[in-house]
Amino acid sequence: MAKDKLIGVDLGGTTIKFAILTEEGEVQQKWSIQTNVLDGGAHIVPDIVQSINHHLDIYQLSPDRIIGIGMGTPGTVNRETGTVRGAYNLNWADEQPVRQQIEDGTNFSVNIDNDANVAALGEAWKGAGNNDNEVSFMTLGTGVGGGLVANGKLIHGKAGAGGEVGHIVVEPNGYLCTCGNRGCLEQYASATGVVHLAQDFAEQYVGDSQLKKMIDDGEEVTSKIVFDLAKEGDFLANETVDKVAYYLGFAAAAISNILNPSAIVIGGGVAAAGEFLRERIERNWSPFAFPTVRNSTVVKLAELGNDAGVIGAASLARPEKPAQES
Ligand SMILES: [Zn+2]
Repeated sequence: MAKDKLIGVDLGGTTIKFAILTEEGEVQQKWSIQTNVLDGGAHIVPDIVQSINHHLDIYQLSPDRIIGIGMGTPGTVNRETGTVRGAYNLNWADEQPVRQQIEDGTNFSVNIDNDANVAALGEAWKGAGNNDNEVSFMTLGTGVGGGLVANGKLIHGKAGAGGEVGHIVVEPNGYLCTCGNRGCLEQYASATGVVHLAQDFAEQYVGDSQLKKMIDDGEEVTSKIVFDLAKEGDFLANETVDKVAYYLGFAAAAISNILNPSAIVIGGGVAAAGEFLRERIERNWSPFAFPTVRNSTVVKLAELGNDAGVIGAASLARPEKPAQES
């Protein structure tokens, strides 16, 4: 029987998403389970194995048709050993032999990469990247992550930290970052970063603003509230969004000037602000972009939403395609 199906797994701190796809990347089946992080995360990999085997049964899909499994995971992935460490939201204290355990439990070959890289692959393949070989991806959520596809391949770097765009310094001596440095993009353009910036601006602002009133009254303010108020014309909210867009435009231009991707794709929860945010990022990106880059790279919104992870993960299981000549 010909092998013609890919399995994608998107492992997250609250849910594990699964999909079965054709070789061309069309999603045919999707399901998800809760992530059980109890007992040091010891149930996570057995649950993944059990769920895959169970669903192949349900869909009456012969294991002979499965090309392989690809998975995106939090933490730092050692792609040589197939191990994962530093996935604290999964309660994994030690390095985990994830690839070996899933291969043993399913008898399929398994490839693993980190979640932001996998989402980048998804968007590059079936989303805003239009299957181009040159696509850069930034995801704005709880943190700021990214994945850089160049010559059709992810950039991993020497120690797997390639594509960590959230730690581009956009404000020398700025906000202290969890990485220990100061002024990283993540501290300004993540969901909490946007709120932090709004709070700082509110302290110095004396004019009329619903956002300032909420902050002064101690109400809970989220990045979504900041963007919604900005869309309604709130002055302080707009000042905040303009600054966020400035930092994002600056970082996006730095990435673009190095890689000259066909698209720099913005995704993640904060990017739900949509065209309102994209247009402001582009306006800030443009003056920092090298002229040839300005005329050949475009700033786009992600298109796959939550499916980017499973689709990109599944692409890890595709047979190695030779990089296209350019
Ligand atoms: Zn940092």
